[in-house]
Amino acid sequence: MSGEGLTVRDLRVTFDGFTAVDGVDLDIHPGDLRFLIGPNGAGKTTVVDAVTGLVKAAGSVRFGGEEILGRPVHRIARTGIGRTFQTATVFDELTVLQNLDIAAGAGRSPLAMLRRRKDVPEPVARALETTGLTRLRDRPAGVLAHGQKQWLEIGMLLVQDVRLLLLDEPVAGMSHDEREATGELLRRIGEDRTVVVIEHDMDFMRSFARSVTVLHAGRVLTEGTVAEVQADPRVQEVYLGR
Ligand code: ADP
Repeated sequence: MSGEGLTVRDLRVTFDGFTAVDGVDLDIHPGDLRFLIGPNGAGKTTVVDAVTGLVKAAGSVRFGGEEILGRPVHRIARTGIGRTFQTATVFDELTVLQNLDIAAGAGRSPLAMLRRRKDVPEPVARALETTGLTRLRDRPAGVLAHGQKQWLEIGMLLVQDVRLLLLDEPVAGMSHDEREATGELLRRIGEDRTVVVIEHDMDFMRSFARSVTVLHAGRVLTEGTVAEVQADPRVQEVYLGR
């Protein structure tokens, strides 16, 4: 398994007459670890919102050979697309394990999950290991450090068999060590999934991106490898201001 590819064509999003996404094309190949960068307001989050069904958009979004644009959020999620938000959305009062159980437990009674003590299901055990949270499994999520909450949120996607992860600034507010650990986590996840990361942190991108798309004013300014994008004078212009 190497994840599933995402093909976006002529994506357009307008808010009250303001065009936030203005004809974006993206070809994200299965197994890619793509960074989506660009200055504030470039349209990065809106592209992800459109792909996941949170905002209305025109154009085409194909995932796993199917057109998904226009479907409701829960049906898009069911195709195997998962996302995280800048502020992690975990249940603070529940333990790490319970959070993962609930994410994994579609169809099981919440009470049964909370009562269960020992038998950690295989996908949950794997997610604990992948995210490095095994030794924290019985801690309430509310006491986790900022970075650990982000990893838990990623873990909650992993147990749902997500084949494309869309992560919105996963290292914002993280320490240097947390960033490095997150990069390694993305590499591990990317071994058998497709990952798209919205990011501001250029050092983080340099270390971990396999490919990069630069958005500016709702359009794709350029894309390529980290080296190609960095060498493009237009990228420096939009980042530094003319
Ligand atoms: P980025 O993620 O690159 O910082 P966004 O996708 O958040 O950019 O925003 C792109 C543009 O769309 C910005 O000008 C922003 O103000 C505008 N925008 C985003 N969401 C809304 C909304 N719900 N209503 C009106 N304008 C919005």
